[in-house]
Amino acid sequence: MRERSLAALSRPEGFDLAVVGGGSTGLAVALLAARAGRSVALIEAHDFASGTSSRSTKLLHGGVRYLAQGEISLVREALQQRRKLIELAPDLAHPLRFVMPAYRWWERWFYGVGLTAYDWLAGDSSLGRTEQYSLAATRNRYPGLQVSGLRGAVSYCDAQFDDTGLAIAMARGAAQAGALVLNRLQATQVTRMPDGDLAIEFSDRESGAGGQLRARDVVNATGVWVDRLRSAPPMVQPSQGVHIVVERRFFPSDEALLLPRTADGRVLFIVPWLKHCVIGTTDTPRDLAEVAPGTEPLPFSSEIDLILTEVSRVLSHAPGRTDILSAWAGLRPLVKPRADSGSATHRISREHSIEVDSRGLVTITGGKWTTCLVMATDALNALPNYPLKTQCPDHGVLPSGLPDMAHRAPTEPEVVWLANHTWARSVEDVLARRSRLLFLNVDAALKAAPAVARTLASCTGRDADLEGFIRIAKAWKDSFQSRQ
Ligand SMILES: Cc1cc2nc3c(=O)[nH]c(=O)nc-3n(C[C@H](O)[C@H](O)[C@H](O)COP(=O)(O)OP(=O)(O)OC[C@H]3O[C@@H](n4cnc5c(N)ncnc54)[C@H](O)[C@@H]3O)c2cc1C
Repeated sequence: MRERSLAALSRPEGFDLAVVGGGSTGLAVALLAARAGRSVALIEAHDFASGTSSRSTKLLHGGVRYLAQGEISLVREALQQRRKLIELAPDLAHPLRFVMPAYRWWERWFYGVGLTAYDWLAGDSSLGRTEQYSLAATRNRYPGLQVSGLRGAVSYCDAQFDDTGLAIAMARGAAQAGALVLNRLQATQVTRMPDGDLAIEFSDRESGAGGQLRARDVVNATGVWVDRLRSAPPMVQPSQGVHIVVERRFFPSDEALLLPRTADGRVLFIVPWLKHCVIGTTDTPRDLAEVAPGTEPLPFSSEIDLILTEVSRVLSHAPGRTDILSAWAGLRPLVKPRADSGSATHRISREHSIEVDSRGLVTITGGKWTTCLVMATDALNALPNYPLKTQCPDHGVLPSGLPDMAHRAPTEPEVVWLANHTWARSVEDVLARRSRLLFLNVDAALKAAPAVARTLASCTGRDADLEGFIRIAKAWKDSFQSRQ
């Protein structure tokens, strides 16, 4: 099946549109363009959502903290997009209530006013009203909270989604609409041909072979790596965000907790996810040279310490290092501020940015998962040759996601299904982004890996890179177990 797709990629007439990068941004571009009837090819260097898009907090949100930063139009747009994505993929996204505990007398009032404004900005897209709780009601409703100094709480509604589930559903939706979608193909260069088409040179990371694909328009949606296909000063300032995963007992609630102000002025979430608690995130500037494609970003020991210290302020039984089951790092593609104001990365705007260069290459980066459809619409509008005015797709157009095996080892028939229907090629594809076992429990993922490798190899006829998976899983484990 892959060989047939590879041959089709080099067809002489080329494509209306080629997309480089299979994260939330590139997949949304390919989905909308293919559904609008364009001939589309998408190539992804590693696996769909293997970059930043699998490492999110899994929230569809307007961004409470951007409201505090005065980014009203950004928040309003994201709140509308939050609703749209829930409608688009109702089995992969759902409303989630968040509590903000108040430990100072003014906090309940202060957060209550801000969150009422957040509700108001959502308008018809609101998912539920802000609520205020007395001290007694707070203790009753959230038994895991630190009670010393507690004064009450405020809660509001946002949404939670399955990031890799949605990525795979978008890839399948694009393919069903006629797009040619391939992973393990890395674009190395984009050039303009004499007839005005663009040519993408790529290398097949499975065979090492090179190839060329041509298209009328090309979108560079390679996240923090966009600058590698551009020839202008960098657009992106990467910022690392880390999450840790612990057992649900540390905050045994169906609701999430938002810590509005960490010691370094950020927000921190404790989110119920697949029978566990995900806690994060940090905001650590990274140098582009340190985060080459294919290198696995790893949590710094100081980031793990910071998360543990912050949660110990709000949880009655706080986790320690030995309670961590998994931890992962992701790289936010923040758009560089125009004049470097020396801002900390958590102050750089989360808005997206589009550039069309002299070759006609459209680069899009920044934004967030929540706004991927509006980012895609803007990128398609900016195509120099065949701009596309398109609407977001309607309710339920995506094929349903993955088998429900997210928090456990997949069975043999499930692995076969994943290989045949979701482009899974390696143990890492299956255990990190189809099942989420690596993200939830590194030891359990290591235990499940040999059986997954055997089944995958027998259905793809190639090595499933068990060794590569073990190397990554052990590096993740070292990052949260050892104190450097
Ligand atoms: C810690 C953290 C938490 C976050 N939480 C949330 C959240 O809760 N909600 C939310 O809405 N947003 C969240 N975000 C933001 C969101 O995850 C990102 O904005 C989004 O995933 C970026 O998607 P992308 O497609 O632009 O980049 P990526 O997902 O990184 O995709 C780029 C892809 O391009 C591929 N690629 C790179 N170079 C090449 C090449 N030369 N050829 C082919 N392919 C290439 C990469 O392999 C990668 O798969 C979070 C971000 C971080 C870091």
